[in-house]
Parts: sequence; C-alpha cells; structure tokens
Amino acid sequence: MGRHPGFTLHVARSAWTRLAASRDGVAIQGESGVAHQAPQARDTQRFHASGIDSQADHHPCTEKRMTTTRAYAAFDNTSPLRPFDAPRREARASDVTIDVLYCGICHSDLHQARNEWRNSKYPMVPGHEIVGRVVAVGDKVTKVKLGQLAGVGCMVDSCRECAACKRGLEQYCEKGNTQTYNDVDRDGKTPTYGGYSKRIVVEERFVLTIAEQTKLEAVAPLLCAGITTYSPLRHWKVGKGSRVGVVGLGGLGHMAVKIAVAMGAEVTLFSSSERKREDAKRLGVHDYVVSSDRAQMRKQRSRLDFVIDTVSAEHDIASVLATLRLDGTMVLVGAPENPLALPAFPLLMARRSIAGSGIGGIPETQEMLDFCVEHQLTADVEVVPIQQVNEAYERLLKADVRYRFVIDNATLV
Ligand code: NAP
Ligand code: ZN
Ligand code: ZN
Repeated sequence: MGRHPGFTLHVARSAWTRLAASRDGVAIQGESGVAHQAPQARDTQRFHASGIDSQADHHPCTEKRMTTTRAYAAFDNTSPLRPFDAPRREARASDVTIDVLYCGICHSDLHQARNEWRNSKYPMVPGHEIVGRVVAVGDKVTKVKLGQLAGVGCMVDSCRECAACKRGLEQYCEKGNTQTYNDVDRDGKTPTYGGYSKRIVVEERFVLTIAEQTKLEAVAPLLCAGITTYSPLRHWKVGKGSRVGVVGLGGLGHMAVKIAVAMGAEVTLFSSSERKREDAKRLGVHDYVVSSDRAQMRKQRSRLDFVIDTVSAEHDIASVLATLRLDGTMVLVGAPENPLALPAFPLLMARRSIAGSGIGGIPETQEMLDFCVEHQLTADVEVVPIQQVNEAYERLLKADVRYRFVIDNATLV
C-alpha cells in the first residue's frame, strides 16, 4: 500500500521492511562511492580532519565508513529539539551529496517530532523542504552537476518498479516509499534523517533541480507545501473559472491559494479567525470566510467546485462540505492527529465526494517547480536560526506564522 509522511500502518511498514532487506540491501551497499567532488566537498574533507563532520564508525547504528553531519533532533515526544550528529551513509554511485542551505518547517515535522501519528522513531532529524547545493555526485549521476542547486522533498527512495513508481507516483509506491526522515533506508536498517542538518545524501531519482534564483529560502517550502497543494489542484483539473475553496491559511494553505490563483481559479478562503483577511486579499483571494460564522458560511452554500482542506487540527468539515456544488469534491491534505467526524448528509444531499491526497511524485514535483518559476511563485517566509526551532514549533501551533518558517542552515554549527 502507498505511504505518506507518517501515515504508515505499522503492519505495512514491518512487511515492507522485511521485503526491502531481502531485496536490495546488500547489492546497493556494494556499489562504488563518489567519483567527483566539488570545491565545497574538498572543504568538507578538511572538516573531517578537524572533526566537525567526522568519521562515525563509533556510532551504534551505522555501517562502516559512514560520516556524521551536524543536525538538530527530537529525542522523544516531549523534549525540545537539540543538537545531534546524524549519521549519513557514504555516497553510492547514483547518489547526490547536497549541502543544505535552507529547510522549511512543515507542520508534519511537528506532528512527527511529537509522535502525534504514533509511528515516531528517535532520534529524529525532521525536515523535508530542502534546498541546497550539490557538493558531490556519484559516477552514474546524470541529473545534476557539481555546484548546481538541488532540492529534496518528502521522499528519498521507493521500490522504483511497481505500477505507481512506473507512473512517477512514487508517493503511492505499492511497497511503501522511503521518507526523508523517520524512516528506514531500503537496506532495511539505516535510519533516514532529514533537512535540519548540514548535509544530505540522496539517490538521484529523488533529487529535484532548482533554477538559479535569489530568494532560495522562499523556494524551500515548495518541496512539500508547494507539491502537496499543486498535485490535487492538477489532478482535479482546477483551471480558469474554477471555484476553489481553501481551508486554513498556513504553509500549505497559502501555497494552495497562490497556485490556484495562478491556474486561473476564483479562490474562497476559509479561516478560523479574522486575522488573516488582509493577507488573503493580497494573495489573490476572492472571498474570505470566517468558518465559525454561520451567516458567512451560509452564503457559500453549494457554490464551489473543489475544496482543499489543509487544517492540521480537529475541525468541522460538515459545514465546509456544504459549500460544494452538485458533484463537487473536497480533498483532505491536512493530517490531524485524531479522526475527523464525517456526517453522511452533506455528502449524499448533492452527490459530493471526499478524497485525500499525499504530497506528489517526483516528475510532478519538478513540473510544479517549473510552474512556480514560470508564474514567479514562492512561499512567504520567516527565516529563523536553527536555535529557534522549538519556539517556531510553538508559534506554528498557534497558527502564528506568515506563512512558513524556514531554517537558515548556515546557523547550524
Ligand atoms: P500550518 O502552517 O500550521 O497551517 C495549518 C492551518 O490550519 C493554520 O494556519 C490555521 O489556519 C488552520 N488551523 C490550525 N488549527 C486549527 C483549528 N484548530 N481549527 C481550524 N483551523 C485550524 O500547517 P501546514 O504545514 O500547512 O500543514 C497543514 C497540515 O497538512 C498538517 O496536518 C500537515 O501534517 C499536513 N500535511 C499533509 C501533507 C500531505 O501529503 N497530505 C503534506 C504536508 C503537510 P487559519 O489561521 O487560517 O485558520
Ligand atoms: Zn511537509
Ligand atoms: Zn514502487
């Protein structure tokens, strides 16, 4: 079955882990390592000598010849994140080594750091909205070159052979994709660690190419918030004249608004408060609705073709369903800790549908990045030093971010 950041059923995961271990663990590890190195990579060799990014064969959970990278990690579901030297595998022939410049803070990082999806493994280095520079490539790498910008999103591998993978829908890999963090590499034993770190090593199929541009910090959130909203908008064929509802104006919500507007849709925003009305108008929203206001909600009845719900916590979806026209669809991308109540009547009264959507495949992520360059779309960001990540989490919980926190990884020393 397909997996998504943290939505794994434990049964599926253990079955997949056994399968992966027997399938390709040994073969992949046996491949040769890095062939070419950029000047930055040579700098790293100096770091090795000075012990900053050192050999870590003393680490309990590593294979030989693994290095460590400076990172921030959650060690349990209640303590603040703190510094950690995360193991990174030695690069294989088809691997790209990336020095992380910026990493977005997604609400999924918080859900998982706090074990709200009940599948967390510690220590956990969150972060799956990664933009950086390529500092080394293996012999077989053709997608990116040394010194180029590169991105990494929520996945770092998949089986690459099932029907979903063949269609470029790696996020729905039948054997389960390998998540950027809080997962296990396809060798069946090595934990994956995310972008709250200095450096990441990724198989080239899962690396995105990023156009040279100035505000890279505003590009990082596209790797999750961008693709997670772009994919369902495309799949349900939103276009010129579509009436689209977006629920929640956070990291995902503000990207959903920007992308839907760029696709030509008329957008109605459902927010839990009045606070973001001015911002929403600036982003191109046509109607702003406070979802607890019954009179405002009544005005939206049976109007919309499509609704994308990005809310991270429990909330009423019945009143939002009622805003869909006959045969309209509401897609859940938000992933609250607890189940949402789904009453039958708003569905059956107008043959409405409710669906879900998980991130996006690698080809579609590249398409989204190109779309964003063409339409000059980036995220609205507040850049923070890594030392403020715990404070950022607290503000995220209060919906107090306009509209994505992004870590400046240069602050990670
Ligand atoms: P975020 O920045 O925290 O935004 C969530 C927004 O939801 C808030 O800004 C707020 O908007 C609204 N909200 C929060 N609590 C609420 C409540 N109690 N009642 C009503 N509205 C509330 O989070 P995010 O990073 O965009 O992520 C949103 C959700 O999507 C998370 O659950 C995340 O795990 C999930 N996610 C899913 C996928 C996927 O593949 N499907 C990918 C990435 C993230 P207003 O202030 O406007 O009300
Ligand atoms: Zn995310
Ligand atoms: Zn697959």
